[in-house]
Amino acid sequence: MKIASILFPLPLPEPFDYAVPDGMHVEPGSYVRAPLGKIERTGVVWAVKTRAEDDTRDLKPVIDVYPVPAMPEPMRKFVSFAARYNVAHPGHVLAMVLRARGGLKPSPTETVYEPTGYRSNRMTEARVKVLDAAREAGPASAAELARQAGVSPGVVKGLVDIGSLEAREVETDLPYPQPTRFEGGEHLTAEQKTAGDELRRAIAKGGFQPFLLDGITGSGKTEVYFEAIAEALQKANDAQVLVLLPEIALTQAVLARFEARFGAPPAPWHSGLSDAERRRTWRETAHGRARIVIGARSALFLPFCNLKLIIVDEEHDTSFKQEDGVTYHARDMGVMRAKLEDAAIVLASATPALETMVNAEAGRYKRLRLSARPGAARLPDIELVDLRLDPPEKGNWLSPTLSNALVSTFEAGEQSLLFLNRRGYAPLVICKACGERLKSPGTESWLTEHRYTNRLVCHLTGWSMPKPEACPMCGAKDSLMGVGPGVERVAEEVRVLLPQARVEIFSSDTARSGEETRGIVDRMAGGEIDVLIGTQIVAKGHNFPNLTLVGVVDADSGMKGGDLRAGERTYQLLSQVAGRAGRAERPGRALIQTYGPENPAMIALAAGDRDGFLQIERDVRAELMLPPFGRMAALVLSAPTPQLIEEAGRLTGAAAPNGEGVTVYGPAPAPISLLRGRHRIRFLITSPRDVDLSAYMAAWLKGLKLPNPVRISADIDPYSFL
Ligand code: ADP
Repeated sequence: MKIASILFPLPLPEPFDYAVPDGMHVEPGSYVRAPLGKIERTGVVWAVKTRAEDDTRDLKPVIDVYPVPAMPEPMRKFVSFAARYNVAHPGHVLAMVLRARGGLKPSPTETVYEPTGYRSNRMTEARVKVLDAAREAGPASAAELARQAGVSPGVVKGLVDIGSLEAREVETDLPYPQPTRFEGGEHLTAEQKTAGDELRRAIAKGGFQPFLLDGITGSGKTEVYFEAIAEALQKANDAQVLVLLPEIALTQAVLARFEARFGAPPAPWHSGLSDAERRRTWRETAHGRARIVIGARSALFLPFCNLKLIIVDEEHDTSFKQEDGVTYHARDMGVMRAKLEDAAIVLASATPALETMVNAEAGRYKRLRLSARPGAARLPDIELVDLRLDPPEKGNWLSPTLSNALVSTFEAGEQSLLFLNRRGYAPLVICKACGERLKSPGTESWLTEHRYTNRLVCHLTGWSMPKPEACPMCGAKDSLMGVGPGVERVAEEVRVLLPQARVEIFSSDTARSGEETRGIVDRMAGGEIDVLIGTQIVAKGHNFPNLTLVGVVDADSGMKGGDLRAGERTYQLLSQVAGRAGRAERPGRALIQTYGPENPAMIALAAGDRDGFLQIERDVRAELMLPPFGRMAALVLSAPTPQLIEEAGRLTGAAAPNGEGVTVYGPAPAPISLLRGRHRIRFLITSPRDVDLSAYMAAWLKGLKLPNPVRISADIDPYSFL
């Protein structure tokens, strides 16, 4: 008699034992259904044991096994590792794996109709139209055929009755077409070829190997990792490849580029998928039939059968860090997954994260470099504009230098891009009469004025209200005034400067869907926009050949706040934005407005001295023992009242275990000390690199009992310091 220990996608401490009925085949990794309390649930078999003679427990039986290949051992190990490292329940991590439930079942089917070739002599015009449609479109549902022929579905039915059409059941979720084209690297430059060959050799050899593909924007990193993908797919006809990209970069253009190179579209995975697309990608991945999956961070938790290569493109991008639920960093977890799968991993970036550079320098990652853009394209000249010496006119945000550059670029028939990482019209609204700064209710955050919608919006919680006519505090009429610039305000200034120019805004307000995003990108690429004004959404991977001027409106805004990576992030963002210019034959120019041109990040940026910049960052972090030279974790608590949060902070602080080398700071009010009516406090924990900080945090949380409405969450290596 066998016992199956089943892990459920729930925050339970461990897998539970079930009896395996005679004749049922389960193995470690089988996806099964079993009763938990009164409810039947889906789980995964974590272990299979033989029942001991003296085991008299009354075990419930496994109900059934899904017709899906068992989750392979490396994936199960990965789930356990990710849970332990990120201080989460294994069941919580499993829940991320099982995000497309329908994927466990075979594809749904539908009835389609095909012509049999028989034509009776009783053919009406409507019937002829349907038969023509069926011949042209191939097998289709009755509704679809009727729609194409412009007749009622009853006509289709009639054709079936007389034997002219034949019904057939087909699966609606079709397998992905298989990649067919593996050649294509002939056009590579010498430097691209060297890097590509190195990747090909590593993949031909096999085994875990991490690479840093370090190349300036537009140097052909994608072309180079295509070589690695081609090699992996060619080497074994069941090998699978995962490409992780920031969500925002997952555009149709990127998918089309994969399709053009490999002769088949990759399987996509991102938040914009429909349920049907999601279960299709999941099922095809689990069955090993999706050879290339391209997705956002959560694609790392797809159940690949034979994962041989992971690419993390734009590896420095902070969107790889998941902040809610199970907090994890997809790049760091990706390296671990590659290790467990015995696979290669390529981290690609023009501005690698400091962590990644340190790993490369220590020899843990092999570094491949691309130093030039192919052909005539070259990096733009970067100039700093000192706003103290070259100030904008009162009430404006563009310096005379940047304004002049916009005018001459427009007159030359070329495109400009202005970057400002602030949505809306003005980031702050104050009352001229009483000085009140308008805040979001129950949240320590200012409201942003949006002119297009005429609303005041909290960017932290999404709460909004129509802009009031009078100050809500003092009641003064027409006294509310937007302070500071947002993209809408800069657009207004550009429209005055260049009345003939076609100006558009690119932010999460104007690009709310994939379709809208594509629309803006296509119009820009097609030359239908003269000046594009965007938030950080513009920084990611787009190619605009006629773009020759990039202006950064306020380079200093990202440097504020208590974030240890603020300088690094600003550097990365600004050099990515600047790198958008001059991607084809025309030279590009980037103008960066700042009040602090003496700041090391700005000096390095203007000089194109990335490594010099990283060296300064590195020294500071090494000195302070901050990541990656030491470890850090955060513990954030929230509660509905000040009394309760104070009590929770005291209890939590008192429960902190003693750990060699571990320092606990706090509790202190979190920088956002009130969010949606909940008061928030934070502990920061640091330790030397050789301390297992995950284990320390787990031990701390284990013994902790907090009153019910208090919420607590741990974050290993935090990126957000709110
Ligand atoms: P990166 O990923 O480094 O930003 P891409 O791979 O996207 O760079 O390449 C930038 C542009 O240059 C793309 O349009 C690409 O097709 C083109 N390109 C890259 N390498 C070559 C080459 N060897 N010959 C011609 N065009 C190239």
